[in-house]
Amino acid sequence: MKKKVLIITTGGTIAMKNDKENGVIPTGDLVDFLISFPQICENTEIEIEEFSNIPSPYMTPSLMLDLAKMVDIKIIDYDGVVITHGTDTLEESSYMLDLLLTTRKPVIFTAAMRSGSDLGLDGPRNIVGAVRVARHNESIDRGVLVVMNDEIHAARDVVKTDTGKLESFISMNYGVLGIVDPDKVVYHRNALQRERVWTDQIDENVDLIKAVAGMDNRYLEYSIEKKAKAIVIEAFGRGNLPATLLPSIKKAVDSGILVVIVSRAYTGRVTVEYGYEGGGRSLQKIGAIFAGDLKGPKARIKLMALFGKYKDTNLVKKFFLSSVV
Ligand code: ASP
Repeated sequence: MKKKVLIITTGGTIAMKNDKENGVIPTGDLVDFLISFPQICENTEIEIEEFSNIPSPYMTPSLMLDLAKMVDIKIIDYDGVVITHGTDTLEESSYMLDLLLTTRKPVIFTAAMRSGSDLGLDGPRNIVGAVRVARHNESIDRGVLVVMNDEIHAARDVVKTDTGKLESFISMNYGVLGIVDPDKVVYHRNALQRERVWTDQIDENVDLIKAVAGMDNRYLEYSIEKKAKAIVIEAFGRGNLPATLLPSIKKAVDSGILVVIVSRAYTGRVTVEYGYEGGGRSLQKIGAIFAGDLKGPKARIKLMALFGKYKDTNLVKKFFLSSVV
C-alpha cells in the first residue's frame, strides 16, 4: 500500500524566486512547482497544506508552538509529515517541535539554500529526500529529523554553518544519523540524547547573550530589568566569562532568574573546570547552571518550553539539569 505523507509549507527560500527588481522574495506557486517533480510522488500519496509563507527570520516561538499543534493533529491521518521551512531559523523550529511533539511518526524538516530561480537549485531534491525519509519505516521514533543535501540530522544537533553553501547544515558534535542515497535511505546511528517537553504553552521571556572579549554587563542588566525568566549566556570555551560580569550574574540569580551557561565554541560541552574569578567554578558557585553540549539558541528554545510547562524556576532548573548531557 502507498504511504501517505503530508507536506506542510511554512515559507523560506525553498518557496522564493529571484525577482530582478526586488531580489529573492516569497512566491505563491511553490506547490505547483513541487508536484511537477514526479519523484516526490513515487510510492507515496502526497498532500500539501500551507501553514504560512514567511521568510524564516519572521518565525517566532509562538508560531513554532502553533506548528507543533498542527502537526500533532494532522499526522494522525498520515504516515509522516515533511515541513518546508527557511534555513535561517530551521535549527530552532525543528528543535522546538522535537521537544513538543507527542507523535512517534516521522516528522522531517527540509529547506533550500537556493531559490526556485537559482541555477543548481536544491529545493526539489531536498523535498524528495525528506519525503523518502518520512515514508521510511526506520524513521519512526527517531525524533524530529532534518534532511538537507542527502543527509539526515537529528534536530537537537543540527546547525546552519554556512550562509550560502549547499552543505550548510551540519551536526558538528556527533555527525549525521544517516544518508539519502539514490537506491535507499541508510541509517548509521541512533541519536541517544533526546529530551521531550510535552506542553501546550511556552514562555518566550528567555534571553540569549553572547560573550565577547571586554564586554560589560549592559545586556545582563537589561535582561534583569526586563525580568527575563532565564538568561542563556554563550560563554567562552568550557564556560568562562570576564570576572566583571559576576556581580550582574549574582544579581540575576538572586532575583530569581535562571542563568544558563552554554559555549560560544562550535563543539563540545561546558564544564565547571576553571577556578579563577569568572571561570566555570565561580559561575556555578554563584548559582549559574551549565547546559552541557546544547547550543545557545537550542537551550533558549528548551527553556521556553520548560517555563511554559512548569512555570516555577526551581522546577525548570531541575528538569533542565536532569537532561543535560
Ligand atoms: N532567508 C531565508 C529564510 O530562512 C533563507 C533560506 O530559506 O534559506 O527564510
